[in-house]
Amino acid sequence: MRRPEVDLSHCVDCDGCVALCPEVFARNEAGYIEVLECGEYPEALVDEAIMMCPSDCICWVEDEEPTS
Ligand code: SF4
Repeated sequence: MRRPEVDLSHCVDCDGCVALCPEVFARNEAGYIEVLECGEYPEALVDEAIMMCPSDCICWVEDEEPTS
């Protein structure tokens, strides 16, 4: 499964991703954006967040899966 990842070194704290998709993106107690655990990530919403992020710091990453 793939999951979204946020490159915090480029995040400008606009909160756009949190407003758009609060079930996936949240601001944690330390003040940083974090990706919440979801059974299945809503692809269309995450894609939209990726497109609207002003610093292009959200991307999809593949979860590590055991190789057979
Ligand atoms: S939309 Fe991008 S820049 Fe804005 S808070 Fe989310 S990750 Fe950071």
